[in-house]
Parts: sequence; structure tokens; C-alpha cells
Amino acid sequence: SLAACSSEREGGDATATSGSTEAAKGFPANSLIGVALPAKTSENWVLAGDLFTNGLKEAGFQADVQYAGSSTTVADQQAQISAMVTKGAKVIVIGATDAAQLSTQVEAAKQAGATVIAYDRLIKNTQGVDYYVAYDNFKVGELQGQALLDGMAKKKPTGPYTVELFSGSQDDNNSAVFFDGAMSVLKPKIDSGDVVVGSGQTDIKQTATDGWKAENAQRRMDSLLTSTYNGDKTLDGVLSPNDTLARAIITSVKGAGKPLPIVTGQDSEVESVKSIVAGEQYSTINKDTRNLVAQTIQMVKDLQAGKTPEVNDTKSYNNGVKVVPSFLLPPMIVTKDNVVEAYANDPNLAPLTK
Ligand code: BGC
Repeated sequence: SLAACSSEREGGDATATSGSTEAAKGFPANSLIGVALPAKTSENWVLAGDLFTNGLKEAGFQADVQYAGSSTTVADQQAQISAMVTKGAKVIVIGATDAAQLSTQVEAAKQAGATVIAYDRLIKNTQGVDYYVAYDNFKVGELQGQALLDGMAKKKPTGPYTVELFSGSQDDNNSAVFFDGAMSVLKPKIDSGDVVVGSGQTDIKQTATDGWKAENAQRRMDSLLTSTYNGDKTLDGVLSPNDTLARAIITSVKGAGKPLPIVTGQDSEVESVKSIVAGEQYSTINKDTRNLVAQTIQMVKDLQAGKTPEVNDTKSYNNGVKVVPSFLLPPMIVTKDNVVEAYANDPNLAPLTK
């Protein structure tokens, strides 16, 4: 169930497994590697596709990189994974569009002898996921929650602070993990009365943004502004799980002619980095896609060579039936204060910070 997502980051009872049996065998160097990505709901997915295509080819593999379409996402991705299995892919890397709808395809991949790597988003309720590679999603949420508090305190030294909370699409396992991470920081402040959620909407079902779509966040923000902030009531901050939604929230607030609250984000999208430099969006998260793809391709190379891929976490990501051995990278908070250093080695973003 979706409600259970939130608790399934922590260990639980399942035992960590250390690599698949296929790992020991290796496979030919020019084998087919499948990469099934979700719809292009944020820039990181666009980047990932290009990086996988080029990186896998450079490493000597054949690459089959597919995206789910934006309206028939689940069926698209299921069909794409099945096709990769049929074509004999040795490793299938999956950025799940719906965490709970892939067990049949993942199990078919296992049966055919492929290794399955969950990329960025965990796949739920199947033994068939061998590895998980991601930025530490719970940490992302903690950083967002802390940035919200810090940003509000900078503008107004004492509370209480009035906020609204947004979360991502409920079919993405990350959404609950981001939200739980943020709430681990915000909940004590809400309980003490220092932070007040103006609308009272604190449940993940009330805060969710279907399909991670900007228009859905904008519509919800529009209606919150009308219902809760129609008079002089100030909105000090908005917890936004990513940059696309942060900009939709900012657009809504501007449209209503209200002063901008502190708004968090994630992904270091071009327009959001510009917005941070301009002093509008307060924060984003740097999760350099180049490093995440490189780490995944390293796993593929290890599997090819018959080595067990390196993991650095065997307790955090329980998918409901097993703890998936994970390689977690550290996310970094970015505000106007550190934006120059944060993107110094990113050729696309560095020029925006000058
Ligand atoms: C990713 C985020 C991204 C979101 C929407 C999540 O699973 O971790 O970086 O903002 O999907 O595409």
C-alpha cells in the first residue's frame, strides 16, 4: 500500500542479500544493457538518458535506453522492460515510473538471467531487484526541511512560521522518503507550535502532486492561496520536493500578487538555479546526475567482469520483501550562499552563477 511506503526505507525484518548469483558468471563485453527510464518529469531524467547512452557505448556495451511516455507511463515501461528481456539484455537498469507495478517484468528479467538495478527510485514488492543506486533520498528530505527552517529564520528571526507542504507523486517510492526526511526535521517544530501548517494539510495524501506535474502543484497552490491566505495572512515558507514544482508554486504566488515565501527544491534545474541566483527560489539540491550514472555503469562493468558490485548500504532500503543492497551517494543543499562553489565543476550550471 502507499501508506506503507513511508516505513519501508528502514531495515525491518528482511535480510540483506549481497549480490546475485549471476554476478559471479560475468557476460560478454559487448552485451546489451537495457535502461528503462520514467517520463521526463524533470531535467535529471533527460540528462540520465543521454549519459547512459553515451557512457554504456563508451564502455563497449550495446545500449537500449527507453523512456516511458507521459500519459501511458506504466504500460509503456512494462512493455519496454519485457522487450529488453526478449532481446537478451544482461543488465536492466530501471528508473521506475510506478514502484509497485513492475514485479512481473522484473521477475521475468531474473528468470532470463539478467541482473536488475533500480536506478534513483526503488522498485517495490519483488525479490527480483538486485541492487539500488541513488542519492540518499531520506537525506534529501532532511536537507529540504532544514533549508526551509533556515531560510525562514533568516527573513524573520522569530516564529511562529506559517508554511505549506508539498510532496511528489505517490507512485514514486522516493516521494514518501523525501517527505519523511523533511518531516523528521519539521514535525518537532510543528508539534511545538513554532511552525504552523496554515491549511492543516500535513498528510502525504493531501500534499501529493500526481505525476510530479507542475500544473497539479500550481493548481493546489492557487487553491491554498484562495482558501487560506486570502486576507493579510502571510505565508512564510513552502516545502517543495523538487525544482519543477517549486517554480510552479512561485508562479502561483506571483499570480496571486503575494510576497514570495521561502521555497525549497531539488535537482539543480537550469531555471531554478537562475531563480536562486536572482533571489526567488530559496534552495535546491545538487544530485549530480553524471555521478549517479557513472556509479551505475561501474556496477554494470563489475557484473560484466564477474565481480560483485560494491554497495555501501545494506539496511536502509526495504522494498517490502527484501532489503535491497544499495550504493547511496550524498546529496548537497544549495542556496544563494554556496551556489558558486556548488556548481564550480558543472559546465552547464557554472556560467549561470557568475
Ligand atoms: C527524483 C527527483 C525528481 C523526481 C521527478 C524523483 O524520483 O529522485 O530527482 O525530481 O523524481 O522527476
